[in-house]
Amino acid sequence: MSPHLFFVLKPIVHYSLHFLAPGLIAFIFFRKEWKKAWLIMIATMIVDADHLLATPIFDPDRCSIGYHPLHSYYAITVYFVLLFFPKTRIIAVGLLFHMFTDWQDCQWPLWLGPRLSMGPHHG
Ligand SMILES: [Zn+2]
Repeated sequence: MSPHLFFVLKPIVHYSLHFLAPGLIAFIFFRKEWKKAWLIMIATMIVDADHLLATPIFDPDRCSIGYHPLHSYYAITVYFVLLFFPKTRIIAVGLLFHMFTDWQDCQWPLWLGPRLSMGPHHG
């Protein structure tokens, strides 16, 4: 893959995963109330507010996962626990999928080579 394609593709994948994929998940797993479930999952993006605690707020070379408080492994453990309660299940799926989205972002340089590590992803 050329570096140019990489820079174009990465944010597209990132924002598709953040906005479109939850819609698909909602439609498959929460069919009865999929629009509500979709909105709830998009709303879980609020956990990115923890970036405000970091300096700098955005660093393209930093991986959110394991760095910010709401993206820490402790937080992710809590999100897993929330899966077991019907009332928080949709939120938990949204949060875990959010973590997956941020995580896959960090993997691109590993897959494609360190030279490509300066992509415009949110960190
Ligand atoms: Zn995030």
